[in-house]
Amino acid sequence: MLKKVFSGHDYQVVVASDGDEAWRILEEPGHPHLLVLDWMMPGLTGVEIVQRLRQRPDGHTYYIIILTSLDTPADISFALDGGADGFVSKPYHVDALRSRANVGKRIVSLHEILSEKMRLLEEAHATISHQAATDELTGLYNRRFFNENFTKSLSAARRYNFPLSLIMADVDKFKAVNDTYGHSAGDQVLKTFAHILRNHARTEDISARWGGEEFIILLPHTSSEGAAVMAERARSTVESECLRIMSIAVTVSLGVVELKDGEDAEALIKRADRALYRAKDEGRNRVVLG
Ligand code: GH3
Ligand code: MG
Ligand code: MG
Repeated sequence: MLKKVFSGHDYQVVVASDGDEAWRILEEPGHPHLLVLDWMMPGLTGVEIVQRLRQRPDGHTYYIIILTSLDTPADISFALDGGADGFVSKPYHVDALRSRANVGKRIVSLHEILSEKMRLLEEAHATISHQAATDELTGLYNRRFFNENFTKSLSAARRYNFPLSLIMADVDKFKAVNDTYGHSAGDQVLKTFAHILRNHARTEDISARWGGEEFIILLPHTSSEGAAVMAERARSTVESECLRIMSIAVTVSLGVVELKDGEDAEALIKRADRALYRAKDEGRNRVVLG
């Protein structure tokens, strides 16, 4: 009878002959989201199905109409408070039941449109957040992201009294690389350097492009000796890999410092910068501990 009510009215009807079969259908992919359920059925009752569906975190919106001969005000309250959206008592009028179902259909499709929009928004938000934190050329974090996390890491290091180091790195004679091999070869060098930094850093470290051909690495829970080991590995890898991959002799200079008591972010960066410039002064292609 119900199949007849809905067939030919823009519904795809799936019929279950009892509560258990209904639940089996509801566990299959592509199951209906608009349900008309008898209350008293063999196996699971209609209200039990409603309660189970409402507890199932499957992300779908269901519109559920209970169709029953139980029709005291207490029955109606019990079904609706249990999670049903509509209540139709038997004997029912075909058109009235279909109109109720049409309301459900509108609500279900509205929810589907909304959740698709939400999904797209979340995707866009993830893309935008990623872009806002990333340097486009190298894929490393950008200066903005670095600064945001730098402040947090500094206060954590001070509060919990763990060491924190900073490496400032700069490609040597990079202007000459651009002038000799072209700007796109220069870009390739920056990408290679970034890749090497990523490979040598730990997951808790933050490697970022500070600007131009300068990079900065924050190493929480790391002393300056540990950071110098990482810096030295990166330095020698750049020297060998750029020559091997691009046949370009590229070297980098790095300054390494460890946070001192009472030092703020600006002072620490300044000290790393000074260590870097000492590395340049002392002949480049080296690590200097500041
Ligand atoms: P030093 O050893 O003293 O650091 O010398 P340097 O030539 O590396 O330093 P300088 O600051 O004179 O030159 C930096 C060069 O980096 C100049 C600039 O054109 C180049 N540069 C900055 N950003 C990019 C980039 O995104 N791509 C390329 N290809 N070059 C860049
Ligand atoms: Mg340079
Ligand atoms: Mg520079």
